[in-house]
Amino acid sequence: MSEQHKYFLPESEIPTAWYNILADFPEPLPPVIHPGTLQPIGPDDLAPLFPMALIEQEVSTDRWIDIPEPVLEVYRMWRPTPLIRAIRLEKALNTPAHIYFKYEGVSPSGSHKPNTAVAQAYYNKIEGTKALTTETGAGQWGSALAMAGKMFDIPVEVYMVKISYHQKPYRRSLMRIFGAEVIPSPSDRTNAGRSVLEQDPDSPGSLGVAISEAVEAAVTSGGAKKYALGSVLNHVMLHQSVIGLETMKQMEMAGEEPDVLIGCIGGGSNFAGFVSPFVREKIVNGKETRVVAVEPAAAPSLTKGKYVYDFGDTVQMTPLMKMYTLGHSFIPAPIHAGGLRYHGMAPIVCHMYDLGLIEARALHQNPVFEGAVLFAQTEGIVPAPESAHAVRAAIDEAIAAREAGEEKVILFNLSGHGHFDMTAYDAYLAGKLVDYELSEEEIDQALANLPQIA
Ligand SMILES: *Cc1c(COP(=O)(O)O)cnc(C)c1O
Repeated sequence: MSEQHKYFLPESEIPTAWYNILADFPEPLPPVIHPGTLQPIGPDDLAPLFPMALIEQEVSTDRWIDIPEPVLEVYRMWRPTPLIRAIRLEKALNTPAHIYFKYEGVSPSGSHKPNTAVAQAYYNKIEGTKALTTETGAGQWGSALAMAGKMFDIPVEVYMVKISYHQKPYRRSLMRIFGAEVIPSPSDRTNAGRSVLEQDPDSPGSLGVAISEAVEAAVTSGGAKKYALGSVLNHVMLHQSVIGLETMKQMEMAGEEPDVLIGCIGGGSNFAGFVSPFVREKIVNGKETRVVAVEPAAAPSLTKGKYVYDFGDTVQMTPLMKMYTLGHSFIPAPIHAGGLRYHGMAPIVCHMYDLGLIEARALHQNPVFEGAVLFAQTEGIVPAPESAHAVRAAIDEAIAAREAGEEKVILFNLSGHGHFDMTAYDAYLAGKLVDYELSEEEIDQALANLPQIA
């Protein structure tokens, strides 16, 4: 068996079409419904928010959707991303398992998020959108969209949760370097922001409020501005399929087939993009690959939520989606993996779970950071706290393989680097991280506010 470390594809092997798993699900995805009429929503409902090309992708069941050349041209700046065998980590764990990871941290903003940000900026540009609005928590999505907006010469307005705006100044700086306007939320620019400020002038803000502000700024712009979302929606999962499609070719180069695939889930996009071509092999060709989604124990939507219709945001502005949810009013504890603090989950990931195509696991942040530090010390890459959930689960699989004496092939997605997350690592190293366990009572309470749908 070769001891090769890295598997690089040439630029000519960047996928030229995205893979859409909606074409291959054995049962159709439950529709998104209008909270007023309870009927499936149509293109007109979404037109004030998104360009038509993205609305069509949202409901498309075409298996392959061509990637426009201008999008490929930007992808070529950092794609294909490397597949790396974690040989030093294997040795440190003394495991017979082979551990591979796909590394999305080489993108300009340091995560997988530009894969969809670039596509969204492009479709908005060609349909004449004058500016994009969005929200960001810790700043990963805001910096990806800021970079993409600059590439297609489209201004970007980012509503950044106020507490992060002040506590995470470097992501804010990155967005500004890429030319975006960054507004601390709640702001006095929108009705949503003003009403929060009236009640509490010192409000730290929340992702829910920031979403409301970004959506309001788009829908009240008379069509000039549109809104962009960095996860959860079908078209986002679609764009992220470039990760899995490249990985499949690279595993062929390595001459191995994964026994288990692992990814972290916040809204579900890096996971869905990474696993969907492999899940297709399970559906179509009966492959028995295990596929594991890893979530934080502080926001355990798949492992402890309910599979029901719920709002995508806190303030009930979005349509209703069928998903494993902790309830739209649930505010996760302030763990450091900000990108995983979401009450729901992408409908596509939920459907995979409901159909038994994937497994789910919830982890606490201390073991997650412990795994991340071991990974950094062996492989030289500091993982984003979100990605560190996948790292920890891969380590656990490798230890289990050692105990069982099995030469398993473990493959995980390293969705981003943690260079802007040193505060979190400092807190871990100082022994100050708290592991939050949700009680059944808290979960019941959070689920009590679900919309009642017959
Ligand atoms: C945003 C983010 C996530 C979580 O989002 P998903 O849509 O679940 O992928 C995971 N990892 C990194 C590095 C992120 O920036």
